[in-house]
Amino acid sequence: MSVFSFHPVKPVTTGEGGAITTNNSDIAERLRLFRNHGIERNPDNFMNMEAKEDSPLPWYYEQQKLGFNYRLSEIQAALGLSQLKKLDKFVARRREIAAFYDAELKNLPLSLIQAQPGARKRSGMHLYIISVDWDALGLTRADVMLSLRERGVGSQVHYIPIHMQPFHAHYRVDKSQNYPNAEKYYSDCLTIPLFPAMTDEDAKQVVIALRKVLEKA
Ligand SMILES: *Cc1c(COP(=O)(O)O)cnc(C)c1O
Repeated sequence: MSVFSFHPVKPVTTGEGGAITTNNSDIAERLRLFRNHGIERNPDNFMNMEAKEDSPLPWYYEQQKLGFNYRLSEIQAALGLSQLKKLDKFVARRREIAAFYDAELKNLPLSLIQAQPGARKRSGMHLYIISVDWDALGLTRADVMLSLRERGVGSQVHYIPIHMQPFHAHYRVDKSQNYPNAEKYYSDCLTIPLFPAMTDEDAKQVVIALRKVLEKA
């Protein structure tokens, strides 16, 4: 299965919600049940044999599993369809801004995540993430985020590693495992603004703010 989120920060949105794709028809069938309280309406699949007999009961349905209400509303789906039509345009604009950042940030004391040759052509550029050795720079990431905010530039950290979250830390099967690469990534990363509605001027402002804040070190 592949799972897609259509949360408002994602490349296409339905406001909230998402989609699951699968090429397995059994799984697809189970997902449809799960989405709708576990309710089966197809007489071929009824468990109660009497309901399958010659005189079908027009109101009949069966709750066969414990499901939930995971239905995307019609209104949300309509928004998603109109977003899909714009997807190519959205991605092209994201790549354009990413290329601008790539060029402009080259000389700053940071490295780029996922900027290997070719990655910019394959990736939908959902996030633009820089990686900084904050200790070496003599700045804390928190201070940099606050300074950027003062200059009107939002930034974020994507994400805190799962094993560091209390819930997962508690239920981890093998607590002796550690994840040094995830923790190193987490300690260095910072996401800077990237969304299709950004103007060239906005992107320039991000670069100027980053330059001012990082070069202050
Ligand atoms: C967006 C996102 C989520 C959350 O998606 P929901 O639509 O809120 O379920 C989880 N993990 C990653 C990596 C994401 O990008």
